Order: sequence, then structure tokens, then C-alpha cells
Amino acid sequence: RTVYLNGDYLPEAEARVSVFDRGFVMADGVYEVVSVLDGKLIDFEGHQARLKRSLDALEIRNPLSDDEYLTAFRELVQRNGIDEGLVYLQVTRGNPGDRDFAYPPADTPPTVVAFTQSKPGLADNPAARTGLKIVTLPDERWGRRDIKTVQLLYPSMAKMAAKAQGADDAWLVQDGTVTEGTSNNAYILRGNTIITRELSHDILHGITRQAVLRFADEAQMSVEERAFTPDEAKSADEAFITSASAFVMPVVEIDGTPVGSGKPGPVAARLREIYIDEMRRRAI
Ligand code: PLP
Repeated sequence: RTVYLNGDYLPEAEARVSVFDRGFVMADGVYEVVSVLDGKLIDFEGHQARLKRSLDALEIRNPLSDDEYLTAFRELVQRNGIDEGLVYLQVTRGNPGDRDFAYPPADTPPTVVAFTQSKPGLADNPAARTGLKIVTLPDERWGRRDIKTVQLLYPSMAKMAAKAQGADDAWLVQDGTVTEGTSNNAYILRGNTIITRELSHDILHGITRQAVLRFADEAQMSVEERAFTPDEAKSADEAFITSASAFVMPVVEIDGTPVGSGKPGPVAARLREIYIDEMRRRAI
């Protein structure tokens, strides 16, 4: 696989980052995941916008222009022959040459890494036909989940705990309400209303969420942005998640309780279809 590191395209075995890199010793960095369909990038602009917000929030200099990111992403997709899959991008505060809690001088160059992952069947995903089983777990992450940092240990632990219980993923609960999934935003449907938590520091502002809510609005579906409890979710008509790699994915079980019919619901299926069709058409 060819990967990108600070302006160079290298075989993965030759791409090396310092042991002092702030990303490695402090999890001091941010990332983005952009999906690829038909060899093209899905919602590149949305992900660029959020990358800038994450970098700004951490006062990490944005080392590349939008065009430079776009060129790097396209180059990686092409060199690695990706038809369906992902581009992962990480920008860290770079290598200060030693370990220190204080940030290094502002002229320290950030480290930029990008690589692809081939995922055939991303659009025609069999999981969309069976749906996901979710368990709820306490949300023990830090307080700025709106910044997409590479500090992913708790979500990773929660995912493992969910798998140990025979589920596919976890929804995280804080003060009695669901914040989001380990790596996705959470939704329920009650009657004709799609309900998903409002934006705040408590959740990542999903780029897929933004697009899906816009499409729901255009399709005259009603949307309520508010918190919901696990009990409300268990008695909902449907439940689903969104993320750049899962698109819209139905949830059929929460803590062992079937949601609605216990099968993927029609609204989640419709939103998935609209999202994939529309974003495919706009891919660059
Ligand atoms: N919430 C969390 C915690 C995530 O990690 C992610 C994606 O990685 C999302 C939500 C979904 O965001 P997006 O739709 O931009 O992929």
C-alpha cells in the first residue's frame, strides 16, 4: 500500500514518524475519515470543514490547503486502486524533539499522514439488511467530543465490551440519555419523527448526520434534535446510526430488546438509499 506522509507518497513500510511525535506520546492530533465510492470522495468538503474546526480548537496549524488535501486523497485512491473504501487522514502537532506537556513552539511542523483502506461492499453492505445489535454503556469519554481527536481509547474499550456481550456496537449514556455510538451518531424514529441528540460539546458533529438531516428535511420528514433515553429508544418504531463509513445503518436490538419489528425499518432503509444516491452523484 502507498501511504502519504508530509508531502511524500511512500510504501507503507518506509513511512516513519518520530517516537517523540505528539500524536504518539500525547494523542495530540485530529483525524478524518472520508469514504470512497466508485473511486470518488464522498462529502470531501464537509470533512475538510470539520478538520479545520478540530485543528482550530486545538490550535494546531493547518499545514495544507484544501487543494493539497484533495490532491493527496485522489492520488492515494488512484495509486491504491480503491473503488470502495476509505481515506484516513491524521494531523498531529508534530515532533517537538522531546516529551513535554507544554505545546512545542508554533513553528513546529505538524505531521500529516493519510492512507486508504479498501472496503468492497461499502454501499451494498449486507449489515444494512440484517441491522445492528446495540448495548448501552456509560459514556466515560472526555468533555470535548466535538473535536475529532485520535484519543479513541474509551470508544475502543466500549466497542470491545459490546462485542463481549454479543452485540455489534455500543450507544453511550450520560446522565440518563444517549449521547452517540462509539463511532457514529444515534437516532430513533417515533411515529414520523426522526429524533437525534442536539449538537454540543457532548457529541461529534457528524458530517453524515448533517447530510442525512438535510435530506430528511427535503423529503418532508420531521426532525427533532433532542436527547432521548435508552428506554425511549427501546420502545421506538425504528433506530439507526450514521457515520462516514456506515452511511445509514439500521439498529434492530438495544440491550436485548427488539426495536419495532426487530427488523431494519423502512425509514432507515429509505434514508440510506437517498444518502448513497445523492452523495454518489456529488462525489468528487
Ligand atoms: N460520533 C463519533 C464519536 C464518531 O467517531 C463518528 C465518526 O467517526 C461519528 C459520530 C460520525 O461522524 P461522521 O458522520 O462525520 O463520520
